[in-house]
Amino acid sequence: MKITQQLQKKLRQPIVVVLGHVDHGKTTLLDKIRGTAVVKKEPGEMTQEVGASFVPTSVIEKLAEPLKKIFPIKLEIPGLLFIDTPGHELFSNLRKRGGSVADIAILVVDITEGFQKQTIESIEILKNRKVPFLVAANKIDKIPGWRVQNTYSFLESFSKQREDVKNYLDGLVYNLVSQLAEQGFSSERFDRIKDFTKTVAIVPVSGKTGEGIAELLALLAGLTQNYMKNKLKFAEGPAKGVILEVKEIQGLGHTIDVIIYEGVLKKNDIIVLGGINGPIITKVRSILVPKPLQDIKVVKTDLTPIDEVYAAAGVKIYAPDLENALAGSPLFAVDDESKIEEFKKIIQEEISSVRYYNASV
Ligand code: GDP
Repeated sequence: MKITQQLQKKLRQPIVVVLGHVDHGKTTLLDKIRGTAVVKKEPGEMTQEVGASFVPTSVIEKLAEPLKKIFPIKLEIPGLLFIDTPGHELFSNLRKRGGSVADIAILVVDITEGFQKQTIESIEILKNRKVPFLVAANKIDKIPGWRVQNTYSFLESFSKQREDVKNYLDGLVYNLVSQLAEQGFSSERFDRIKDFTKTVAIVPVSGKTGEGIAELLALLAGLTQNYMKNKLKFAEGPAKGVILEVKEIQGLGHTIDVIIYEGVLKKNDIIVLGGINGPIITKVRSILVPKPLQDIKVVKTDLTPIDEVYAAAGVKIYAPDLENALAGSPLFAVDDESKIEEFKKIIQEEISSVRYYNASV
């Protein structure tokens, strides 16, 4: 995408992570969101990412069309960037100074099971990193008597359920409300919330059938756009990122998968990043992304080089001296070599906490 096009958009995509207890449906829900985006997107619209999936605003608007009365929001963000790997472990690598690279989280809870050990652990981590979240009360299709409807909208499906089923669902939602209260949060079913800055939204969904995905995406987009505008302002300037993974690719060498959360990364940029034996200074040889027009579920191994990339994005970087690069480390592009020492210092501080964190998980 050209610079002018990007800057016109002004706001970058919010970065979304998915957390929750094992088997509560994180992977299924992410797959459903990605699959829906592939079906609903315009040809050529979706940018390709490494380690993340982009859901463009046009898809969110199409899905949210029937909800216009409830969400009368004109979206200015270009879309949402979902980190592909759910759960604590990768989230621990998404650090940045004073918080997280993630702008918002989805806490997935099986509505029929309620909070479990890792649900509470997830909340603790989100609190520590100061990441706001909403709750996806998942597996509503398992509620006794639930009649699956052919819609992505929870409210539409809910309106077609029997009264006793509606009441049963609301009972389960209130179990979650009291479990969230025990963790210090006031919460409510999303359509009954008056002030989203004070109340955690609970969105009943099914990752299996897709019911509720419309409201989930509309809320993620609406909340981030309304309450995080300053954070999402597109910042020109050298890229800032975080390393998700270090991988050796046959015939190429060591590469790093990076989430760029601010600025612009260009081919031949000097980058400073953390390594096992201290900071590494190197030069970007190529920025790689999956080839376009692939089904997003296809393994993203077929890569193509691009000259530059804008936050927020997931890319693979090839550069010399990446053998000892450290997952979880920050990465800074440098436009002024006198700043290298400063970045090295920041990275050294950060890496000591990354190691500590990894060791304690
Ligand atoms: P994760 O460990 O949180 O990533 O959970 P998974 O996505 O692997 O899901 C665990 C199990 O729950 C799998 O057998 C899924 O098919 C099932 N599952 C996930 N979401 C739903 C849902 O919305 N409805 C139903 N009925 N089953 C679900």
